[in-house]
Amino acid sequence: MFRVVVVGSGIAGLTAALRISTFAEVTLITKGALQESNTLYAQGGIAAALFDDDSVELHVRDTLLAGAGLGNEDAVRILCSEGPALVRELVRFGVPFDRSGGELARGLEAAHSRSRVLHAGGDATGRGIAVTLATRVRASGIRILENAMLTDLVVRCGRTVGVRTLDADGTGGVLGAEAVVLATGGAGRPYSHTTNPCGATGDGIAAAWRAGAELADLEFYQFHPTALAAPGGTLVSEAVRGEGAVLLDASGSRFMQRVHGDAELAPRDVVARAIARQMTAQNGAPVLLDATGLGRRFLAHRFPTIQAACEAAGLDWALEPIPVTPAAHYWMGGVKTDAWARTSIPGLLAIGEAACTGAQGANRLASNSLLEGLVFAARAADALSATELPTSPVEDTVLSGSGRAAGEAPSERTVDDLREVMWRYAGVERNADGLSEALRLIDELQPADSVPSIAAQEELNLLTLGDLVVRAALAREESRGAHYRSDFPTTHSEAVHSRVILRDGDVHIGTFTDARQGMTREVVGAC
Ligand SMILES: Cc1cc2nc3c(=O)[nH]c(=O)nc-3n(C[C@H](O)[C@H](O)[C@H](O)COP(=O)(O)OP(=O)(O)OC[C@H]3O[C@@H](n4cnc5c(N)ncnc54)[C@H](O)[C@@H]3O)c2cc1C
Repeated sequence: MFRVVVVGSGIAGLTAALRISTFAEVTLITKGALQESNTLYAQGGIAAALFDDDSVELHVRDTLLAGAGLGNEDAVRILCSEGPALVRELVRFGVPFDRSGGELARGLEAAHSRSRVLHAGGDATGRGIAVTLATRVRASGIRILENAMLTDLVVRCGRTVGVRTLDADGTGGVLGAEAVVLATGGAGRPYSHTTNPCGATGDGIAAAWRAGAELADLEFYQFHPTALAAPGGTLVSEAVRGEGAVLLDASGSRFMQRVHGDAELAPRDVVARAIARQMTAQNGAPVLLDATGLGRRFLAHRFPTIQAACEAAGLDWALEPIPVTPAAHYWMGGVKTDAWARTSIPGLLAIGEAACTGAQGANRLASNSLLEGLVFAARAADALSATELPTSPVEDTVLSGSGRAAGEAPSERTVDDLREVMWRYAGVERNADGLSEALRLIDELQPADSVPSIAAQEELNLLTLGDLVVRAALAREESRGAHYRSDFPTTHSEAVHSRVILRDGDVHIGTFTDARQGMTREVVGAC
């Protein structure tokens, strides 16, 4: 049996580990506890065309429309057509999806033309999925290493042959593998306002970058329109607007009807920008989300997580509108893969939010990311089962510890400064002056020390990725999807291509065409 290291235990990593373990020896490593992940916090649900009034074609159309011309149609078709069977499998696994009259309940979310979003525990869908899958993984006998961080990939002769790890107690190690599957999620933490938990520092993407893998679409970062403007910044799911809640300005008037025909259910980038502008117009004061029309019982039953967050902030959302602000939420960019999760480095696969399959285009359709994790994890497993892999020359080894305490923050100030710079200059709206200033400021933010620790590694990764996001955002001189340049506010038809960024001595930013045309790469500039 060959050895596969799966890194990360969100929906993508857990699904991949379960499937790959049927034909290979799997080690699952994860930075925190097994269930800790962005997946755990997902609220609104998982989208799939499962109902009679829906179809794969409609889901494809909605996904491509939201993707603003950049969605890779092949990847989108795979997502929407292979998703339903895998969601049914989750139902069989026992994910406690909500029901209505015995049937699966379904919600409507922004930019979906049909109600097709399954949810669990009201707004605790991610928890239902994470707990169910983690329980199966624990029961499967898969070797699980919790509190073990991937720091770097081991690449020999152009092939991935293992991973370097760092434990919470400062002990390092190397795990040899014939293949590595990165399922390390995205990176909300480079931004000062984010819905993402602390662990979302883009470690896998940064490690892939250092190893020389191609990354793509890094300029496309989705800002969720509505996080609670109170300590903790809890996400207020799109599903709340889907159920009928409306956005109000400081004077109590609706403003989204003036911005877009779909008003509060317009695509995320449109709503996030409209809120950001409205906030600027009212001197930074958050806008209000009015869910009072939905009724106290319904709110408590359908959205218990948000209800608890409101109560913790001293707000009664059944009685009065609550303050909300945009926040960094989901990264469309990541490690570039083909339709089988394969990256540009042999032996390295990437899935879930860490990957860029092209399915999310320039703007993810709500509730499509859990689905993407599921679908491409299954594809990664299929790809590996069909491949003859050369034996890795690397054996597992333990390296002596550095003695640094777990979680000790070497230079919190650097990360805080980075987060402010990114929010200010590379956030909901960007322009060349601000992005250039961001590059200069990030360059000044040096990691404080080189002693190996999880916090130091995260800091290094955040600085690396912040720099790359800014470079990619500077290179795209147009506005598209989630990337809005105030100095280039229109969309250019000649810019309908993804940008690949690779480390080849310098940083290169180039273009690639879609999979049907063979993923050709054309390096167009060096910075
Ligand atoms: C608050 C919130 C609500 C959301 N709601 C929805 C929703 O309703 N529907 C939807 O489709 N999407 C939603 N999303 C997005 C969705 O949750 C994520 O895109 C998706 O869960 C990503 O899954 P993943 O498996 O790729 O990564 P994650 O779930 O983020 O898992 C990444 C895993 O990798 C581990 N890891 C990270 N770095 C390392 C390292 N260096 N070494 C070892 N392990 C590492 C982490 O600990 C974690 O276990 C939401 C996101 C947030 C933050």
